[in-house]
Parts: sequence; structure tokens; C-alpha cells
Amino acid sequence: MKEASFADADAVFSYSKYVILGIPLDVSGTHRRGTGKTPKAIRQESYNFETFIYDLGIDLDDVPIHDMGDLPIDNPRFDVFDAVGKIVAAGKVPILMGGEHSITPYAVEVFSDVSVLVFDAHLDYRDEYEGDKNSHACATRRIDEAISPEKVLPVGVRSISKEEYDDAKIHGLEYITADQVRKIGTKKLIKLIDEMMPGKIYVSIDMDGIDPSYAPGVGTPEPYGLDPQVIKDVIRHLAPRIVGMDVVEVCPPYDNGNTASLAAKLIRDFIGAKEASEK
Ligand code: MN
Ligand code: MN
Repeated sequence: MKEASFADADAVFSYSKYVILGIPLDVSGTHRRGTGKTPKAIRQESYNFETFIYDLGIDLDDVPIHDMGDLPIDNPRFDVFDAVGKIVAAGKVPILMGGEHSITPYAVEVFSDVSVLVFDAHLDYRDEYEGDKNSHACATRRIDEAISPEKVLPVGVRSISKEEYDDAKIHGLEYITADQVRKIGTKKLIKLIDEMMPGKIYVSIDMDGIDPSYAPGVGTPEPYGLDPQVIKDVIRHLAPRIVGMDVVEVCPPYDNGNTASLAAKLIRDFIGAKEASEK
């Protein structure tokens, strides 16, 4: 069945430039469970789109993309680090489909000298959640420990506990709220990101960063979110500097299909933009 791999991902690993990997981790979901079914849902939706991206002049059919399938997970930290490490060591760009947000810190550890741009409704800055330091509610905290607070930028934030609010101040973690994005607009947002993150960038898209009207199928929906157009524009601008990306927290049991579809589109758009920037 063709939906077994992401649309247009028909290159073998050795000849590919972009490697798609499903990481169906679903252990710490706190509100709605179901992220374990996500990679399959995103792959299915990926067939809905034209291979040609008209406003980039790129046909994804001509781009060497490989889909590794889903990662068997025994020890999440080791397995994700090992798999992403092998992709990066082979000189390819990893594109991960979660699974819950806890996969991002493990993936980021592979890169040296990278800044991490996170789209998320939540600050994810708890030191631990329900006794679990690797909970998805702690993703940004673990990322900033893996690199440093100055190199992590959450965007689209609109849910912060008092503890997270205080800790972000103490640690010097800056973030841009969804309200601020609406106020300053995409152009200014891009300028800010360019100033704060001048080098290589890893992008982590927690789909709940997007407004629930566009992305209803997430584990922890939060109103007043980002317009997906903002994320598209930011990714298109940053694409030449993006060395890895993940799309996490799509929750198929609560989705009407639009969230998985948007996740697939963002992945296709990123590949198209990076490819266009190298022509
Ligand atoms: Mn979130
Ligand atoms: Mn998150």
C-alpha cells in the first residue's frame, strides 16, 4: 500500500538528502492520548498534495527523500539519539514525525552548535511533571539543558505555569507569545529570530502552537494560537539554515484530519523551501 511511506519519499537512504523518520512515542500524554498513531496519519495525509510546489518552483518528485519508517522504541533517549545521529552523520537532514514532544531533546543532543526554534502553546519548562523529567511538559527545559537557554526560542506560547514563569526568568529563557506574534507581525518576528539565532537552526513544531481551529487534533489544545501561515513563512525564510526538524503532538483520535494534513504540508513545504534555497 502506497501510504506505507511519506508521499514522494521514494529515494533509497544512501542517495537521499532528506530522511523522514516516524517516532511514535506516547508515554507521558497528560490530557488526551494517541500520539503513537501519528506518523501513519501524517503519511496518509501527505498523498493529498501536488508534488509540484508552484510558488517555489520545486517538484518534490525530483527531490531525493527517504522514509525510514517508524523507529522501534525500547529506550527512547538512546534509540532517538542513535537513529538521528546516524542520519546526521550521513550528511542528511532528519525530519521527525512524533510522537510526543519528549523526542525533541534527544534529537537535539545529536547536533553541535545549533539553536532550537520551538513553536508551542506551552512553555514546556517544568523541571519535572508527575515525577517524570522526560515528560512532554518538560521538553524545552531538557532542550535548554542539552544546549543553553540563550539558544532556545519558544514561539506562540500562551500557557505558562507560575513555576515555569519564574524559572524562565531565573534561567534567562526568552520566549515570544502568540499575542506578541499577532502584534509584531511575521516580518518583525523573522527579524527577531534572525538576530537571536544567527547560525544553524533545528525547528521543533508542537502542533498545539497553531490555533485549535486549524489544528484541533492535539493532546493539549490551547485557544488563541498561531495562524499556520506564520510558521510557513518563518520556515521558508529560515530553510537554508535549518539542519533538522520535528513535527510533534498530533493526536489522531481527536483529529478531523486537518491537523495531520497540516503537519504533512509543513514537512513538504520545508523540504521544498530548503531545496529551492540551494538551487
Ligand atoms: Mn504544547
Ligand atoms: Mn510541547
